[in-house]
Amino acid sequence: MTRRDLRCPNGCPEGHFEALNAPLIVDGSGRYLEHDGSAATYVCVRCRSVVIDVAAAAREMLMDNRSASSVLECPGCGARLLLPEDDPQAPQVECPTCGERFAVEEGMRFLHGGGPETEVE
Ligand SMILES: [Zn+2]
Ligand SMILES: [Zn+2]
Repeated sequence: MTRRDLRCPNGCPEGHFEALNAPLIVDGSGRYLEHDGSAATYVCVRCRSVVIDVAAAAREMLMDNRSASSVLECPGCGARLLLPEDDPQAPQVECPTCGERFAVEEGMRFLHGGGPETEVE
């Protein structure tokens, strides 16, 4: 089950939220058993604002960092390309746009603007 950390954007103190689009599973007498919150939108019971899922936001940020670190920029033409998934340790990659071969570190250094050695007078 996906962890959630729901917060009202207006800071309502109750922390009571209503799950929209979440099918409720009930037993034969109509009593609540569980619900499927995977596609749910949550709103604050008090102010009806759509709530923020802090846990999901943190997960998304992690994903962004991961994908950013595996993106290279071709020194020849500036095209962005992903690290080859079948051989992420490859010392060299070939740009599919201009055919330039360059070292993985070279593509990353380029992306990060020259590195810390660059001194500006
Ligand atoms: Zn609220
Ligand atoms: Zn290129």
